[in-house]
Amino acid sequence: MRDRLFAAIEARRDDLVALTQALIRIPTVNPPGENYREICEFLTARLRPLGFDCRLMRAEGAPGDSDAFPRWNLLARREGSRPGQCVHFNSHHDVVETGSGWTVDPFGGDVIEGRVYGRGSCDMKGGLAASIIAVEAFLEVMPGFPGAIEISATADEESGGYGGVAWMAEQGLFDPTRVQHVIIPEPLQKDRICLGHRGVWWAEIETRGRIAHGSMPFLGDCAVRHMGAVLHEIETRLIPALSNKTTAMPVVPAAARQSTLNINSIHGGQPEPEPGSTALPSPCVPDSARMVIDRRYVAEETTEGVRQEVVELLEGLRERRPGFDYALRELMSVAPSWTEKTAPVPQALDRAITAVLGRGPEYVASPGTYDQKHIDRIGRLHNCVAYGPGLLELAHQPDEYVGVDDMLDSARIMALALGDLLQQK
Ligand SMILES: [Zn+2]
Repeated sequence: MRDRLFAAIEARRDDLVALTQALIRIPTVNPPGENYREICEFLTARLRPLGFDCRLMRAEGAPGDSDAFPRWNLLARREGSRPGQCVHFNSHHDVVETGSGWTVDPFGGDVIEGRVYGRGSCDMKGGLAASIIAVEAFLEVMPGFPGAIEISATADEESGGYGGVAWMAEQGLFDPTRVQHVIIPEPLQKDRICLGHRGVWWAEIETRGRIAHGSMPFLGDCAVRHMGAVLHEIETRLIPALSNKTTAMPVVPAAARQSTLNINSIHGGQPEPEPGSTALPSPCVPDSARMVIDRRYVAEETTEGVRQEVVELLEGLRERRPGFDYALRELMSVAPSWTEKTAPVPQALDRAITAVLGRGPEYVASPGTYDQKHIDRIGRLHNCVAYGPGLLELAHQPDEYVGVDDMLDSARIMALALGDLLQQK
């Protein structure tokens, strides 16, 4: 069976390249979320003749959904010849903006020396194409399979997944009674299994002061100076403390094997003039300053602990610093997600990687989040990993590419794992 399966995949080499190119040539840039319906319809036209029941679904009312930019998702399901378990491949179909620095057409899908180039080639249209080729080869070799196979192409992963996997999970589509195994072909490399990701907590801190004439600042209270005190605390106490919060999660790169904090933005006082403007500011003591922080935390911490740490820092300043007043607003919170190595999906992928590559996989965790969080938290399905071709470092970069041989290897691995999982009772 294995030899026939591999031969069926090898025979689809050109088809795999063409499919990846076709997907890249539909620019599904997010934001704003363009051509979502087009890409779902393209995939429907491909999968329906193979016996897939295709449901095109708009995440109406989800964040980001509008009539101008509707959030379309595709769920395709192929029933087997008899009842059994369901294996689901989930890919996001959106890509990030191109940015500058490209030497090829970002939506051209050029093939150069065994690599397909373009925005989304690596993250993650190459993975989507590889999973489709894996399933098509599997259907040719194992037409009488038990259970069911699902392929989804979902919106908005790059902006949090609320109009995509989160919405689908809320509809019950990732309920463990209907889906038992999920593989997300994100670009973690063909020899790595990604078991989960760190948590994320975004918050805005505002310091408040009192406006006055800039020539008599002693009559006001400067919110920017208060923010300076917050920055000093972050710099001298919080960030050093985070380096002691290490984790047993095998996060890659290894520098992310601890808690981290990024200061996303900071602003106080009057808006900056447009570049080139000759307008002068008016002399005022700023009464508000705002800072957005992006805190990434490890499985050994709790969201409440992360929040409390910032609250204590701010309350300490309130006690020590005359006039200090603040507001804290949570912008986003996602708990760490984790699938045990002993779960069926990582075990099946482990066996398949060993069979195809001749060595066992590396188990990793992701520094940032991806759609596994929604499948885990809303779907309550704890048998989901990220596995797919491509180098994570190329994601969101200019001249992004995916290697054709890597896609073929990961298609072999996904097809083997699929057969393995469908045989399970
Ligand atoms: Zn991605």
